Amino acid sequence: NEAKHAVDSAVVERRCAVTPNTVMRLSRMGLDVVIESDAGVRSGYTNDAYAEQGATIIDDGVEALSGADIVLYVNRPSEAHLAKLSENTLVIGHIDPFFQQSLVEQLAAKQVSTLSVEMIPRSSRAQKMDALSSQASLAGYVMMLQAANNLPSILPMMMTPSGTIKPAKVFIIGAGVAGLQAIATAKRMGANVLAYDTRPVVAEQVESLGGKFLKIDIGETGQTKDGYAKELTDEQKAKQQEAQRDAIADSDIVITTAQLFGRKPPVLIRKETLALMKPGSVVVDMAAQSGGNVEGSVAGETVQVEGVTVIGTGHWSQQVATDATDMYANNLFNLIDEFFNTESKQFELNLEDEILAQSVITHGGAVINDMLKNAYG
Ligand code: NAD
Repeated sequence: NEAKHAVDSAVVERRCAVTPNTVMRLSRMGLDVVIESDAGVRSGYTNDAYAEQGATIIDDGVEALSGADIVLYVNRPSEAHLAKLSENTLVIGHIDPFFQQSLVEQLAAKQVSTLSVEMIPRSSRAQKMDALSSQASLAGYVMMLQAANNLPSILPMMMTPSGTIKPAKVFIIGAGVAGLQAIATAKRMGANVLAYDTRPVVAEQVESLGGKFLKIDIGETGQTKDGYAKELTDEQKAKQQEAQRDAIADSDIVITTAQLFGRKPPVLIRKETLALMKPGSVVVDMAAQSGGNVEGSVAGETVQVEGVTVIGTGHWSQQVATDATDMYANNLFNLIDEFFNTESKQFELNLEDEILAQSVITHGGAVINDMLKNAYG
């Protein structure tokens, strides 16, 4: 956690929670939108572009917090913001609630209502608001580009009078939203792609993208009712590492995206296995910031481990900040639109609704999400 927080605080966020387009749509709904000066610049949107759509630009975002009905964040409130937030304000953002217990408890104590976008269920109805998916799709693409940039070889096959180059071999471990985009990107770049996931249902999706699915028999695996991978037993973890060893040793690029919702990600690649890869091979650890799928990966950095370049830079979607902002701002607009009462001009915080029941984590002075209450103890 310390590593993650150090990296988080050192990174200048490039995304923004609104675009000129969503400002226009929010204004049409009857909302007054106030935006901090230059909040959109890093994603390609000037103050003027927002002002033209009806936003009021202010120098310091803190000024607008007191009395706001809704505050939209890319991430979460800072200490300075926390002090200024008013009772009954609805805060929406990537709160990272499993790692931000103190912040969440302070928001609750201040009677702020908090909606954590990470807790939005992965249902068909919630798809248009699903920020985890929108950012993970971009992350899959960016991770593959970073891997290719760091590899001392090309990805596609090339037949020339000077010789024939074989296509690179890419192995993707964890074929969820990010993994599938990494597969699609690697295929577009001409690589041979192999993938593995503990949820057998994804084999078909991997194959439909032109990848091969590595079949490993580690006994019963599967997914929770929300579609998240179940945690493996220690024996299963050992079997998985053993069965993947040859595929990893044979790969030029490995991308690991395995996460367990609300828990530390599994270690999938040990140093002994990295040592089997060709020197100069590249491994991207998507989970480096939350504990790591790869032994030796460092949150926020690219390091050499056993002759392999291990990339753990994180903040992947920010590398394509314009698209990341467009998608995230649309997710937030769709969320507000879904629950906005056009007559009262208020966001209706109906906690009976299954989306809000899961994603609103503080309300009425308390932490109200059961998963978090269990995690906090
Ligand atoms: P995630 O980020 O939680 O995990 C990434 C992938 O790693 C998952 O596919 C997971 O099965 C896999 N994984 C976990 N442990 C592993 C291990 N030891 N070895 C190999 N792979 C491992 O997943 P995600 O991409 O956020 O997707 C979570 C679920 O939500 C999936 O079932 C996905 O299909 C579903 N989903 C549904 C919708 C929707 O219907 N609206 C939208 C997006 C995602």
